[in-house]
Amino acid sequence: MSGIYIHIPFCKQACHYCDFHFSTSLKKKDELIDALIREIELRQYEFKNTTVETIYFGGGTPSLLTSEELKRIIDSVFKNYNVSENPEITLEANPDDLSNKQIINLSNSQINRLSIGIQSFHEKDLKLMNRAHNTQEAKQCLEEATKYFNNISLDLIYGIPGTTHQEWEQNIDIALAFGIKHISSYALTVEPKTALASFIDKGLINTVDDALIQEQFYILIDKLEANNFVHYELSNFGKEGFFSRNNSAYWQGKHYIGIGPSAHSFNGKQRGWNIRNNTKYIKAIQNNELPIETETLTKTDRYNECVMTGLRTVWGVSIKKIKAEFGTTFETYLLQQAQKHIKEHLLYIEDDKLKVTKKGKFLSDGIASDLFKINIV
Ligand code: SF4
Repeated sequence: MSGIYIHIPFCKQACHYCDFHFSTSLKKKDELIDALIREIELRQYEFKNTTVETIYFGGGTPSLLTSEELKRIIDSVFKNYNVSENPEITLEANPDDLSNKQIINLSNSQINRLSIGIQSFHEKDLKLMNRAHNTQEAKQCLEEATKYFNNISLDLIYGIPGTTHQEWEQNIDIALAFGIKHISSYALTVEPKTALASFIDKGLINTVDDALIQEQFYILIDKLEANNFVHYELSNFGKEGFFSRNNSAYWQGKHYIGIGPSAHSFNGKQRGWNIRNNTKYIKAIQNNELPIETETLTKTDRYNECVMTGLRTVWGVSIKKIKAEFGTTFETYLLQQAQKHIKEHLLYIEDDKLKVTKKGKFLSDGIASDLFKINIV
């Protein structure tokens, strides 16, 4: 199973916390779409022997594209790749782009899943983060989108400066009231060189205590699990049948091609990343060159990746798989390193899978790094 990720590098305005690749000028939109289609054609040989199960439009803000533009891109994937009969086709969308008309247009396209960047239903949070939408637009778009799409995911952010636990609970409750079946939720992180980082440096915004972030994380888990969501990945919750097929494939080490500036690719042995500059990307593709840098993963890199992604998911790290793919030395190392965390009830083993306990969830990235090997093999 394989996936295609398509990066749409445009946004209306820069959210204060964001360090993704995007431009707020749409001047090169047409040229960029042509380049995406050309890259899709140029890279078809990479997936000659595999079936594309998922197509994912991420960004940036893919909902800035019209449904005709999205259709051109999807058509080129179908034309150049062997796409499965029932692919998951996801569009990341922002509420302010989802007018009633646009929702209907999208529902008539091949797109069958929306991932909507709500982040918060509170006006003050949206302003602090400099989101382009307001509370009214967030609710209005969900009102309409849920009429036309069954498969909708929402993004919600916790640990926002000034957000109380009660306000955070309200965000989750509102999402649940719309009958949403998938939620991706992340703590607000302060990335270097973002507006948020500079506001914090200047003392205009206070940082949020780790303990408070942790409490909001567990409020989220408890509330969603009580509402029959499975916490299937550290930042992702879904009802049965509504886990993101795109993300699950990624966490299970499946191969994917990343199309567009800054998009990442993985073929099982090598990781690649496209140039993070729209103009240079377009120019290279116009010259039929792939602006991609690659690195070949060592055995240790692959082991570390397997541990990291496995521990983040409900499926855990298969000890058998570690032994089969990396040998007894790696298996022994993993079990030795895990011991102390098992004693502290942060990890446990179930049916040959190493998993994090509920207590360990908030610390899982740190625990994973403790199980990593360094690159000497
Ligand atoms: S809309 Fe998304 S990609 Fe664009 S600036 Fe905001 S968070 Fe970043």
